[in-house]
Amino acid sequence: MLVENKDVLRERLKEIFGYDQFRGNQEAIMQNVLEGRNTFVIMPTGAGKSLCYQLPALVQQGTAIVISPLIALMKNQVDQLNAHGVQAHFLNSTLSKTEINRVKKETLAGKTKLLYVAPESLTKDENIEFLTKADISFVAIDEAHCISEWGHDFRPEYRRIRSIISRLGNLPVIALTATATPKVQQDIQKNLQMEDADLFKSSFNRKNLYYEVRPKKHTKKQLVRFASQHKGKSGIVYCLSRKKVEEIAELLRVNGFKAAPYHAGLDPQVRMQNQDAFLNEEVDIIVATIAFGMGIDKPDVRFVVHYDTPKSLEGYYQETGRGGRDGLEGHCLMFYSYNDILKLEKFNKDKPVTERDNSKVLLQEMASYAESSVCRRRQLLHYFGESYEKDCGFCDNCLNPREKYEAREVLSTVLQAVDQTDQRFGLQHLAELIHGTENQYILSYSHNQLPVWATGSDEPLDYWKSAIRQALLYEFLEKDIENIGVLKLTPKGDAFLIAPHSLSFTLDHDYSTDEVEEENE
Ligand code: ADP
Ligand code: ZN
Repeated sequence: MLVENKDVLRERLKEIFGYDQFRGNQEAIMQNVLEGRNTFVIMPTGAGKSLCYQLPALVQQGTAIVISPLIALMKNQVDQLNAHGVQAHFLNSTLSKTEINRVKKETLAGKTKLLYVAPESLTKDENIEFLTKADISFVAIDEAHCISEWGHDFRPEYRRIRSIISRLGNLPVIALTATATPKVQQDIQKNLQMEDADLFKSSFNRKNLYYEVRPKKHTKKQLVRFASQHKGKSGIVYCLSRKKVEEIAELLRVNGFKAAPYHAGLDPQVRMQNQDAFLNEEVDIIVATIAFGMGIDKPDVRFVVHYDTPKSLEGYYQETGRGGRDGLEGHCLMFYSYNDILKLEKFNKDKPVTERDNSKVLLQEMASYAESSVCRRRQLLHYFGESYEKDCGFCDNCLNPREKYEAREVLSTVLQAVDQTDQRFGLQHLAELIHGTENQYILSYSHNQLPVWATGSDEPLDYWKSAIRQALLYEFLEKDIENIGVLKLTPKGDAFLIAPHSLSFTLDHDYSTDEVEEENE
C-alpha cells in the first residue's frame, strides 16, 4: 500500500504539477496524510506547504476540506488548481446563492477534490449540514497559527474549527503554518485536540538573508542611500501606515527610483496595477503596508526594508522571508526605535485585555531582538524553537561585534536568582531581584531576604534583563510552556550552577541617544 502510494504521488506530482521531485519533507508528510494520521506541518513561507494537502487530496476518494483565512489566498489557489485541470472550489461570502448551490452539487456528486472554506462559512449551520452529507477525505487547516491567542495573527473563529470537524465525523487533520513558536505550537495542538499528531518541522534558517538593524535616525537619508546601493534591483519597503507608504513612495520617486505604493486604502485597480508593475519589473521598489506580500511569489527580491519597527518577530520573519526566494542574497534592513514600540503599544489600547497583554509580549520580544547585539539569526531561530549552536557570520551583529564581557559571575547570579525563587518567576521580576528594586512584589514574596537580593545593584536593570535573555538564548534557561513568562533552569543551567565556567556575553546596543533626533526629523 505504502509503496503504491509513493509511486502514485510521484506520478501525479509530475503529471499534474510538472515537478520532478518533492521538496524537503513533502513526501513523508503526504504519506502520513494518506495513512489517515493527524499531521502537523511547520514550514517556512515558500517552502511548499500547499502541495502537502493538494496532492493527497487528488489521489484519494472524496473531497478534502481546506480551511484558509484569506479569501484572496483561497481564490489564488483555486485558480491555480483549476489551471492544472484539478476540480477545486471555494465556499465563502463572495459567492452568490446560485454559485453556492453549484459548488455544493459538484461536491455531493464527488467531483470536487478540494473544497476551500473560510472559517466563517464553515461555522454556518447550512454548510455543516451539507458537509455531513459529503464524502470528506480529510481536513487541512492552513495558517493554523491563527488558532492561537499567543501568536500574532489570532482569529477567534479559528478556535471553533475543532468542534465542527468533530461533527463531520472522525476525520484526519493536517494543520500547517509558517510561524509557530513552541508556545503557539502547543496551543494549536491542544485546541485542535491533536496532541498525537506527527510533527514535521523544517528549519527556519534562511541562509541567504542578511539581517541588519539600524537606529531610526535620519531614516529618509539612510533609506535613499541604501536604495542607491541596490539601484535597479527589486525591493520591498514596509511602513506601518498608509500615509507613510505614500510619503516614502514619493520620496523614492523624487530621488529617481521606480517606486510605487501598495496599501488597502488604494483603489483596488490601482493596487493591482502597482503589484503587477512590481512583478513585471516596471517598478523596482514597492512601498507597502503589511497587507502586501500574501501569496506573492517574486523570487528575486533583493532587499526588504522595515521603515517602521514591526509588531512581532513572527511578522518580521514572514515579511523578510519574501526576500531572496531564489536562493541569492537578500538584504533585510530594519529601522528600530523604542518610540515605535511605544506607539504600537498605544494602538493596542482598546483591545481586549488578553489580546493587549499578548501584543505587549510580542512587542517586547521585538525590542529585545533589535537591542541585542547577539547574532540575529541565532536569536530568530531560537525564538522559533530551533537550536542554532553558533553565530552565523552573516548579520550585522556578527560582522560588527560589540563589546563582550566575561559572564561567569553574571550567569551564576542569574541562575541563582531563578533557583532561589523556585523557578516560578519571569524576566522582569528576576532582574529586579538581582538589581535590588524594592517593589511590592519583591516585598510580598520576601524576596529581599534571599541571598541573591541586590547582589547586582552596581549594574542597571537593563543590564540584568539583557543577561537573562542571553541565559535563555544560550539555553541555560527556558520558558515554561504552561505558565507564560515564567523562566526555568535547563539541565545545562543546573550543570552550570554546580560547575560554573568561563563564557562571554555581549552588551546590548544603546540606541537611547538616537530617539530624540528621530522625533525631530
Ligand atoms: P507555502 O505555502 O509554504 O508558502 P507554496 O505552497 O505557495 O508555499 O509553494 C511555494 C512555491 O513552490 C510554489 O510556486 C509551488 O508551486 C512551488 N513548489 C512547491 N513544491 C514544489 C516542488 N516539489 N517542486 C518544485 N516547486 C514546488
Ligand atoms: Zn549572525
